[in-house]
Amino acid sequence: MILKTIEHQENIDLRNFCTIKVGEKGKIVYFPKDYKEISILIKEYDNIYPLGIGSNLIFSDGVVNKVFVHSKNLKKYEIENQNDIFYITAEAGVSFKTIVSVVKKYNLEGFENLSGIPATVGGATAMNAGAYGSEIFDLIEEVWWIDREGRLNHSKKDEIKYSYRYSQFQNEGFVYKVKLKLRKSDKNISEIIKNHLLDRNSKQPLDLPTAGSTYKNPAGTYAGKLIEAVGLKGYRINDIGFSEKHANFLVNYGNAEFKDLIKLLELAERKISDEFRINLEREVKIID
Ligand SMILES: Cc1cc2nc3c(=O)[nH]c(=O)nc-3n(C[C@H](O)[C@H](O)[C@H](O)COP(=O)(O)OP(=O)(O)OC[C@H]3O[C@@H](n4cnc5c(N)ncnc54)[C@H](O)[C@@H]3O)c2cc1C
Repeated sequence: MILKTIEHQENIDLRNFCTIKVGEKGKIVYFPKDYKEISILIKEYDNIYPLGIGSNLIFSDGVVNKVFVHSKNLKKYEIENQNDIFYITAEAGVSFKTIVSVVKKYNLEGFENLSGIPATVGGATAMNAGAYGSEIFDLIEEVWWIDREGRLNHSKKDEIKYSYRYSQFQNEGFVYKVKLKLRKSDKNISEIIKNHLLDRNSKQPLDLPTAGSTYKNPAGTYAGKLIEAVGLKGYRINDIGFSEKHANFLVNYGNAEFKDLIKLLELAERKISDEFRINLEREVKIID
């Protein structure tokens, strides 16, 4: 049954819901505007899948039989200043770009290393997104989330399970709202962010559709280094390949297809397992 009172779209082209632009069709996506609508959706369906901007996602081919719940209508945020400690409480769909604009406006420190990650607050919290030695859970104080029964929960950071590129929200419920703690800085934060973005741009293939890092870095090494070591940096199967610029980034050279992408992942995983006895763990989420 379709819940007509909640904004939605049927028969969707999944390439429009992920940054790597791979995938075919989805049956339905809902765009709830508050936690009550999220709760109604969770109670109604048992196959919901939360979506941010899809910068860590790969959809399979054919029709994906999930009820997607997208955060584009959850973009409210509040800023509270307590003696130069700033709390930003942001709904799931607030983008990192918006957080960066707040951080620059008030000259706040703590977010510099995360700037440039294409993410929503909800997706980043689920993934515990991070870069350059920082991660979003360094800044998170509290999370409001809807559980599998559709109830609104409120958890303090020390009650939440998270680790490198993981949080419990990957497996349960929907992140509704997150409170971040930042402090006023005496450094020039806009300048630091500008230089940080230049550094990211010089290392990442941002001119082509991609889903960012394909694999988590195994302990003590880098996935990109291993991919390069087995000769797959720049290697492609038809329109999908490991980037020449950053071996751990898959890039879509035009009309990449899921079947080629999977072949490429399996090839890399087999070669790295054979040569280094390391089983790479996928960071990208494959949805089928
Ligand atoms: C060019 C590029 C650079 C990148 N660089 C980095 C980097 O430096 N560091 C890094 O960590 N990642 C990086 N990524 C990957 C990606 O940006 C992050 O994983 C990001 O956090 C995904 O956010 P999203 O909102 O797009 O989530 P999506 O990709 O839409 O979803 C990711 C996961 O989060 C879940 N999710 C989304 N919203 C919610 C919600 N409201 N509640 C519960 N679960 C939710 C989804 O179900 C899915 O499991 C990069 C990606 C690209 C394309």
